[in-house]
Amino acid sequence: MKRAGVRDSYEDAKAYLDACAGPYVSGSTPERRHAFLVEGPKMVEYLERHGMQWVHAEGWSDYHEGEYPGGVARSRSLVAQIFDMRRLGSWRNLVRRSLRPPLRLYEASDLFLWGKTWRSKVAMARVAWRLMLRRLGFDLVGTGMAVQGRLFEIALRAKIPLWNEALVTGLITEGARVAGVLVRRHGRDVRVRAERGIIIDAGGFARNAAMRQQYQPKPTSVDWTNSNPGDTGEVIQMAMALGAAVAIMDLSWWNSVSLRPDGTRSINVMDIAKPYAIVVDAKGQRFVNEATSYVAVGIAMYQRQQQAQAVPSWAIIESRHRRDYGWGGVKPGPPPQEWLDSGYMIKAQTIEDLADRCGIDALGLKATIERFNKFARDGVDHDFGRGKSAYSRFLGDPTVKPNHSLGAIEQPPFYAVKIFPGDVGTAGGLVTDEFARVQRKDGSIIPGLYATGNSTATVVGRSYPGAGASIAAAAVFGYIAAKHAVGQQH
Ligand SMILES: Cc1cc2nc3c(=O)[nH]c(=O)nc-3n(C[C@H](O)[C@H](O)[C@H](O)COP(=O)(O)OP(=O)(O)OC[C@H]3O[C@@H](n4cnc5c(N)ncnc54)[C@H](O)[C@@H]3O)c2cc1C
Repeated sequence: MKRAGVRDSYEDAKAYLDACAGPYVSGSTPERRHAFLVEGPKMVEYLERHGMQWVHAEGWSDYHEGEYPGGVARSRSLVAQIFDMRRLGSWRNLVRRSLRPPLRLYEASDLFLWGKTWRSKVAMARVAWRLMLRRLGFDLVGTGMAVQGRLFEIALRAKIPLWNEALVTGLITEGARVAGVLVRRHGRDVRVRAERGIIIDAGGFARNAAMRQQYQPKPTSVDWTNSNPGDTGEVIQMAMALGAAVAIMDLSWWNSVSLRPDGTRSINVMDIAKPYAIVVDAKGQRFVNEATSYVAVGIAMYQRQQQAQAVPSWAIIESRHRRDYGWGGVKPGPPPQEWLDSGYMIKAQTIEDLADRCGIDALGLKATIERFNKFARDGVDHDFGRGKSAYSRFLGDPTVKPNHSLGAIEQPPFYAVKIFPGDVGTAGGLVTDEFARVQRKDGSIIPGLYATGNSTATVVGRSYPGAGASIAAAAVFGYIAAKHAVGQQH
C-alpha cells in the first residue's frame, strides 16, 4: 500500500476491523485483532523477502468502506502476481487448478463488463495476451493458484521437506502436551514427532455433512460448497477430543451460488451486484444490499429465512443484464438453451408470469420492482444503501447512471435463477489466542498445539472486512505460530 501511495494507519485499520468484526468473541478478541494488524505487514514483508510477489489490488475496496470508519476505498488487499507454474518443475502437477483464466483477481470487475468500457477492453486484452502466452507454452496462472504456486516455490527453494498423500489420522500426546501426529502414508501409519509444536492448518468442515448439520444454520448442504475437497473437519475434531474449545461454528465464508444443470456450482457474487438484477425471497421482497460483502449477503439470507423462504432466494434479472454482463463467467447474450430447458434459468415476458413460474408472490415482486425502479431512477437505494460504498461501485457498471450499481428492471424478457448461500469454506473452528495457541474452554492452553486458517475461529468475527480476509488470517497466524514455536515471540 505504501508503494502504491495508499495512506493507512494502525488506528484506521483497528477502527475499521473493530466496526466490522463487532463485539469481542472467542477467536476475535482484542489481543488477536491487535496481533493480526501488527504482524500482518511483517508477514507480508517476510514472504516478499523470500520471493513472494505481491500486487496491490487497486480499486478492490474494503467491503464496508463508507459504511464504517477507517475503510480504504483503494483497497487494503493484495493479490499474487501472475505465476508461471513451470517454475515448480515436476511438482507443478500437484497444485490444484481451476478453470479461471490467468487473472489478478481485481481485474475481474473490469473483465466481466465484457469490453463495455475502455478499462474493460484493456483488462480483456491483458487476459487474452496471457492466454496466448499459455498457448506458446507458458503455464501462467493467477488468483489463488498464483498464491499457492509462489508459496510452493518458496518452500521448495528453502528445501522444506514436503509430503503429499499424507493423511493426518491422529494427534500424539505426551502427558498434556501434543508431541506429534500420526500420518497415513503409502498405506503405512507413520508417527511424526515434533520438538517445538504442531500447527494445524487443515481447513474447515464445509465438506463434512454431519458437522454442517450440527453447527451451521439450516438448510445447509455440502452440495453448495466450493471449498477444497479436503475441507473435511476431522483434524478440528481431533483437537476437540483433547479438550479444545470451538467458536463461530455457525458462520461460513458465504458466496452466493447457483446450481447449474450439470451439477456444478456457479459463483454469482459479481453477477447479482451488477445493475439490472436484484435478489428477493419467496414473498418477492428484497432483504439485503446485493452489492455488499458476500458474507453479509449469506448472513442476511439465513436471517431472512426466519420470516420467509430465502434459502434459496431468487435473482431477478433484466434483459440488459443478460445483454451486457453474462452470468457465472459465461459471456453475455441469449442464455444457453440447456439453462432454459432444465429450469436453471427461468424466462418470462412479464414479471407476473416470472413470479408464477418461480413460485414467488407476484404482487410482492411487482411492488418490490416498482420501488426498486424508482431508486434506480433517483440513484439512491433508500432500503439497503446499495451503490453507496466504493465496493458496490467497483462491482457496478460506470456507464449506468445516476448510480453505477442500480439499474431498473423494466425491459422484457425477465429471467430468474435460484441463489443459494454457497461458501468457500467455514469460518469457525478451534479457539486460539494471540500466539495462535489452541485453547480449552477455560482459556488454558493445550501445550504444543497451534492452529491457523479455517481450522480456527476467525479473527474477523462475524464479518468479511475485505478481499483476502480468510487467506490473510491463515497466513498471519501461521507466521505468528511458527515464530512462537521457535521462541521468537512478537
Ligand atoms: C473459488 C474460491 C475462491 C476463493 N477466493 C478467495 C479470495 O479471493 N480471498 C480469500 O481470502 N479467500 C478466498 N477463498 C477461500 C480460501 O481459499 C480459503 O479460506 C483458504 O484457502 C483457507 O486456507 P487454510 O490454510 O485455512 O486451509 P486450506 O487452504 O483449505 O488448506 C487445508 C489443507 O489441509 C488439508 N487437510 C485437511 N485434513 C487433512 C488431514 N487429515 N491430513 C492431511 N491434510 C489435511 C486439506 O486437504 C487442504 O489441502 C476462495 C476459495 C475458493 C474455493
